[in-house]
Amino acid sequence: MRLAGKCALITGGGRGIGRAVALGFAREGAAVAVAARTPAEVEQTAAEVRALGRVALPLVCDVSDEAAVKAALQAALAEFGRLDVLVNNAGVGSVRPIHGLTRASWDHALAVNLTGTFLCTKHAWKAMQRQGGGAIVNIASLAGRRGVAHMAAYSASKWGQIGFTLSAAEEGKPLGIRVNAVAPGKGDTAMRAAVVEDKSRLLKAEDHVGVCVFLASDEARYITGQVIEVDYF
Ligand code: NAP
Repeated sequence: MRLAGKCALITGGGRGIGRAVALGFAREGAAVAVAARTPAEVEQTAAEVRALGRVALPLVCDVSDEAAVKAALQAALAEFGRLDVLVNNAGVGSVRPIHGLTRASWDHALAVNLTGTFLCTKHAWKAMQRQGGGAIVNIASLAGRRGVAHMAAYSASKWGQIGFTLSAAEEGKPLGIRVNAVAPGKGDTAMRAAVVEDKSRLLKAEDHVGVCVFLASDEARYITGQVIEVDYF
């Protein structure tokens, strides 16, 4: 097992990509804390992790709320005694033309996708530093690699998340903290449920598990500051 003995916290682990990664990590031997806003969903994922024989911790947490993030990280550290892996996966979509993009919608996309990544990283950092290292995997997007019409707020948040990833990777090098990003293309999850499109051409949540397991594992011990695109079409 590639993550045996490791303890991980996955934000947005209640459904979609985060849930798939949580279960993938559990299959590879990790204990998993799952954080999101919807209690029933984090509890369901935690139950599925336990059914795989691993320790699970459901955490109700809004990643844009620093006090909630701090409390969630403290709870994970109290339960596990350490934190080896953080997956910043929590995210929200935003599809609007610029002239119809409200300030509130812009702020929300940045607060969750970008500030949420910063806050969780900030409050995991010291524990990882104390332990002599850790792995952080940020789930970004292809929209953070190029421009996308009608997705300016989302795209800006994901470009920012990738910039944060690359800077944190530099800062983490002397501390043994590796920080990488995964940039998925369009996926068949709740985030795109309302979009009318050919769902057979979309990535499945499970398509992101292998790369996240690899980046979280010691196999990637010399890999940091990378952005790995997951896309096919
Ligand atoms: P999803 O099924 O909607 O899942 C999003 C997860 O994030 C949920 O667990 C949600 O739970 C959580 N979340 C949202 N806002 C949150 C907040 N403020 N605090 C804590 N958790 C929050 O979407 P997904 O497709 O799996 O998305 C996962 C990641 O992949 C996102 O970062 C997204 O940007 C990225 N991505 C998705 C696609 C795609 O096409 N699906 C493409 C590229 C990148 P609650 O609502 O209960 O909080």
